[in-house]
Amino acid sequence: MQWPDYVKIREVGLRDGLQSEDRFVSSEVKIKLLRALIRAGVSAIEATSFVHPRAIPQLSDAEVILDGIGDIPNGVVLSALVGNVMGMQRALNTGVREVMVVVSASEAHNRANVKMSVSQSLQALKEISPLASGGGTGVRGAVATAFGCPDQGKIDRGQVSVVVEGMLEAGIKEITLADTAGLGHPRQVYTLVKELAAGYPEVTWALHFHDTRGLGLANIITGIQAGVTILESSVGGIGGCPAIPGATGNVPTEDLIFMLHSMGIKTSIDLEGIARCTRLLEETLGRSLPARVSHLGCKASYTS
Ligand code: ZN
Repeated sequence: MQWPDYVKIREVGLRDGLQSEDRFVSSEVKIKLLRALIRAGVSAIEATSFVHPRAIPQLSDAEVILDGIGDIPNGVVLSALVGNVMGMQRALNTGVREVMVVVSASEAHNRANVKMSVSQSLQALKEISPLASGGGTGVRGAVATAFGCPDQGKIDRGQVSVVVEGMLEAGIKEITLADTAGLGHPRQVYTLVKELAAGYPEVTWALHFHDTRGLGLANIITGIQAGVTILESSVGGIGGCPAIPGATGNVPTEDLIFMLHSMGIKTSIDLEGIARCTRLLEETLGRSLPARVSHLGCKASYTS
């Protein structure tokens, strides 16, 4: 079996993770976490979101975060979620290097999440994307509920393809397939990734799994086997989805790194550095997070 030498990990805990926390985490702590993630070697971080402050109060301090972080090392890319033209304009004012846009493959989830139909969301991308490119900002897309939706059930490849094609029409060529509700299984992941990669060879694919049913790492393994080398995860496994009651966080970054490093697959990230970020988050939130490896002390890093 062929394995890649290196995979890129994008940390999404500060955006996807924190957005479902009711109690506001101060901007100072968020900036401290961002700096700690960068020190741990994370080179791609989804830092915040430019959605309406009333929609997600936790992320209403996007400007404060991106201004407050100051200079970041070469090679580190901070990105932010953008929901509409107004959000895009806010993002451009901060000079963030990359934005991401989300459209759900599930009509029901898209309406619950952004109060728009899938086709309205895809239409909006055609306005948002040129604004980003015009401002020299990179744009990538994410297909939410690509592997299943709790409201709509099975999601077929055709529904995912509609969103992928809409993103391509808007000039977006890096696309994350997101298992928002943790419904995907390894065989499905392998098949969907293989079929999409064959159908849209111009796209760079990334994968994003919530570990709601415990299949996150298994899904990642088959995703890597299908050729994907960009993976998204969240420090401590923090997270959920505001539109999906009971949804849990992403695959924990430290558990993912432990698996990859054990397999001889390199990342840019230091496991102990991530464990420190998880401890900071746990102290801030006042509770334990789902990640396993961070709780194993010195045994955690014996392979890294
Ligand atoms: Zn997610």
